[in-house]
Amino acid sequence: MSDAVERVVVVTGGSGGIGKAICVGLSAPGTAVYFNYNNNLDAAETTAKSISDTGGKAFYHQVDVAAEVAVADYLKMILKQAGRIDVLVNNAGITRDGLLVRMKGADWDDVMNVNLKGTFNCMKFAAKAMMKQRYGRIINISSVVGASGNPGQANYVASKAGIIGLTKAVARELASRNITVNAVAPGYIETDMTGDLTEKNKTAMIGRIPLGRIGTPEDIAGVVAFLASPAADYMTGQVIHVSGGMYM
Ligand code: NAD
Repeated sequence: MSDAVERVVVVTGGSGGIGKAICVGLSAPGTAVYFNYNNNLDAAETTAKSISDTGGKAFYHQVDVAAEVAVADYLKMILKQAGRIDVLVNNAGITRDGLLVRMKGADWDDVMNVNLKGTFNCMKFAAKAMMKQRYGRIINISSVVGASGNPGQANYVASKAGIIGLTKAVARELASRNITVNAVAPGYIETDMTGDLTEKNKTAMIGRIPLGRIGTPEDIAGVVAFLASPAADYMTGQVIHVSGGMYM
């Protein structure tokens, strides 16, 4: 295998269930995969190992996507090391669920800061490099609930609906520079984020999925890899629902 890096990919939240699958799905010999995480080093190391197993090069750092200056420094460091950013996947996300009338302002702020402002922060600094390159592929992870709504998740739903608007606005801004910006809206995917659902709630959830099963992180990663590939060169500003038909 040659050591030359032909493609530089940046994924946020690469230590999580979907983020790991995305990192691995985008990895190949000649690809450098930079991913960040919040506070789960062991999981980050597992992701890095899986990236290496595909022949890609893994680089991982603890960076809070909500912290604008830290994100700017992180992306600057990548550009200095790797020279370019070809693909950015904004996947980092959190939930702080609760009914509207009981929701704490801090829970609203945390979710908006990580999910929506974090996506803005990363796009802003990566886009500058992509504009110079006249090439870039940005993929933002929204959610089915950003389109359908969901009780008990006003903060999360607002952040994920915001990501859809942000995706479309920036897609229009950057299209002339050959930068595409699309969103993937996962349905119910088996990860830590959904791990605390009771069996009863899980069964009820499956009953609402036309394809009759919970999604896997790889179901999402396949669509992300497609959006980052030449096969999707003529797509921008789109929201692809990957939810087993939960939302049509
Ligand atoms: P997860 O909890 O397994 O992983 C979340 C990842 O985000 C982790 O790597 C974590 O370290 C990272 N992260 C959290 N806060 C961060 C911060 N401040 N800065 C940097 N990184 C941070 O979650 P998941 O299920 O893999 O979800 C990944 C994405 O997919 C999220 O945006 C989530 O909203 C979205 N999504 C998930 C589902 C689902 O059913 N699991 C459905 C729809 C959308």
